[in-house]
Amino acid sequence: RKACFRLSTGSKSWDAILNGGFQSMSINEVFGEFRCGKTQLAHTLCVVAQLPKEQGGGEGKVAYLDAEGTFRPERIQQIAERFGLDPDKTVENITYVRAVNSELQDEHVSELNENFASGGYRLLVVDSICALFRVDFCGRGELADRQNKLGTHLRKLCHMAEEFNLVVFMTNQVQSDPGASALFAGADGRKPIGGHVLAHASTTRILLRKGRGEERVAKIQDSPDCPEKEATYIITNGGIND
Ligand code: ADP
Ligand code: MG
Repeated sequence: RKACFRLSTGSKSWDAILNGGFQSMSINEVFGEFRCGKTQLAHTLCVVAQLPKEQGGGEGKVAYLDAEGTFRPERIQQIAERFGLDPDKTVENITYVRAVNSELQDEHVSELNENFASGGYRLLVVDSICALFRVDFCGRGELADRQNKLGTHLRKLCHMAEEFNLVVFMTNQVQSDPGASALFAGADGRKPIGGHVLAHASTTRILLRKGRGEERVAKIQDSPDCPEKEATYIITNGGIND
């Protein structure tokens, strides 16, 4: 059995509530409103995944599935400098794929599955998991179809996480209808989209929200081995930090 590892977030307090970071061989989800730092965290993980294990890294390559068009190689270079890595090499170690609809997103995952057989990959980022499914299946009566397709997609990701000892890290949006979230959400009043299908697939779910000033707050909502604690973090030129 492959030894799973934990990938540091870039923030010590966030790592602390996660017993060291995001776990490999499982699906990790962060959800929250815009500008909470989901994409910035995704970028930070792309760099940390390439660091030695002693530094909370994964000593591996990365694949980034971008469904929102917000990947920025320049940010990777800046974050690489913080961690003392060669900026250009760090970018080169990232296999970048841009998905423009949900069907292609699913095909890209199958292609990545083939790539991963070559070995050495330790992180797969999906930013964001539901956005394109939400657009492609927006009509009345399309929900069941959407959830079916999303379920198949997530099962692939889950299988890949285990087979290749990957940290699968995905971002997710929150329901925009405040009435719906007030009715159905937990104490924080924010509910991730994707319904039960996504809730089942995610091993660890974390809610992100804005705190005081520049501060942001991460709260574990669901984890097999961590209590529901909170951590604060900030977004810097060098990525997620304390
Ligand atoms: P989300 O994906 O959750 O919508 P992002 O990850 O895109 O949010 O985070 C956006 C936030 O990150 C903005 O508040 C922006 O000011 C901040 N940000 C982006 N780049 C930097 C940087 N180089 N230094 C500090 N903050 C940054
Ligand atoms: Mg984003």
